[in-house]
Amino acid sequence: MSAELIDGKAFAAGLRARVAQQVPAFAAATGRAPGLAVVLVGEDPASAVYVRSKGKMTCEAGMESFEHRLSAETSQEELIALVDQLNADPAVDGILVQLPLPGHLDSEAVLLRIDPDKDVDGFHPFNAGRLATGLPGFVPCTPLGCLMLLEDRLGDLTGLDAVVIGRSNIVGKPMAALLTAKSCTVTLTHSRTRNLPHYLAHADIVVAAVGRADFVKGEWLKPGATVIDVGINRVDGALRGDVDFAGAASVAGAITPVPGGVGPMTIACLLRNTLVAAHRREGVALDE
Ligand code: NDP
Repeated sequence: MSAELIDGKAFAAGLRARVAQQVPAFAAATGRAPGLAVVLVGEDPASAVYVRSKGKMTCEAGMESFEHRLSAETSQEELIALVDQLNADPAVDGILVQLPLPGHLDSEAVLLRIDPDKDVDGFHPFNAGRLATGLPGFVPCTPLGCLMLLEDRLGDLTGLDAVVIGRSNIVGKPMAALLTAKSCTVTLTHSRTRNLPHYLAHADIVVAAVGRADFVKGEWLKPGATVIDVGINRVDGALRGDVDFAGAASVAGAITPVPGGVGPMTIACLLRNTLVAAHRREGVALDE
């Protein structure tokens, strides 16, 4: 292996520590801690694990965590009523509805109901539109974390060729928008892309968000490329990324491992977004 490892776990710990350092000044100015509400519907085991660790890290950062666990039979009306209640609650700065929701619920309608000023996941079309038009808003946590790792490693991204694999609303599309805003030349690829290796051969930056274990091969990469692997795939009980790590690590300049790369950045960015939401809602300045 010649590639440098990008240690997302360590970077995320540093980011969470910086958030925690900024909480006391907010509390002194407002008389309360920033609050994050997380809503979990049903018993999906992976979602339950995420929600538990989000709650734990929210508390560790000195913020208030409000967990709402609803049964899998919860109706659309009940869920919408809870979102309305959280929108109106002054102690709640951020609202996160854990996806995926059980099949009988309309996720899009639920996400649309969240107050965009409390949309710390950045999934509301209002915030997606603000990102697309270059206005400040909330950026989805996973691509925001990827961008932080890239800037930490590469500094100014201006002019670099970036290929994003995957065009989901939660990772691929906002990732492409963020890299465009940083003046990269961005190619957004997906399942209908013809000849993906052709594009990867020129990419200084590769962000893989495909959902297929070991999909990206080392021989497709430009030597020295920086590779960010968003994928979380369970194979025979182990976690695997979307990039064939061994093959890619012998060609890339730097690469994120799975686990320990992008994954820890997502919750750290959620805490950061909640801190920002709290300051904006209270009109308190936040030292960057
Ligand atoms: P989606 O399933 O929503 O999107 C996958 C994307 O990959 C689609 O745009 C799809 O194209 C594209 N794709 C599928 N097959 C190919 C192919 N053969 N060639 C090129 N593109 C292809 O997934 P998500 O974006 O939600 O997640 C992607 C991965 O990231 C998953 O492994 C997920 O678990 C992980 N993830 C990790 C997070 C973290 O915190 N680290 C957070 C969120 C996700 P098309 O649009 O044409 O169907």
